[in-house]
Amino acid sequence: MSKNLCIHCGKPRIIAKAWKEKIIIDREVSVIEHMEYVCPDKECQKWVEKELFSRHQNTLKIGQAKLAREIEHKRKMVDLRLAKAKR
Ligand SMILES: [Zn+2]
Repeated sequence: MSKNLCIHCGKPRIIAKAWKEKIIIDREVSVIEHMEYVCPDKECQKWVEKELFSRHQNTLKIGQAKLAREIEHKRKMVDLRLAKAKR
């Protein structure tokens, strides 16, 4: 098993939750085991969660900015085409 270390303090993380989930693939039941690891230090874990959350938000923001630029670009192309058509 690979080591699961805390990204903040580097301590080995502990299993906070473990659960099994049944899924059906091609009419066969498979069981997937899920495990949630947390830092043994509660304060540190809070920091990690906040950090992961803000990272996630940043990724979303970057994605949205990129999408907005693409839409803007497409709109300009259409404007150009319309301008040409008018002539
Ligand atoms: Zn930690």
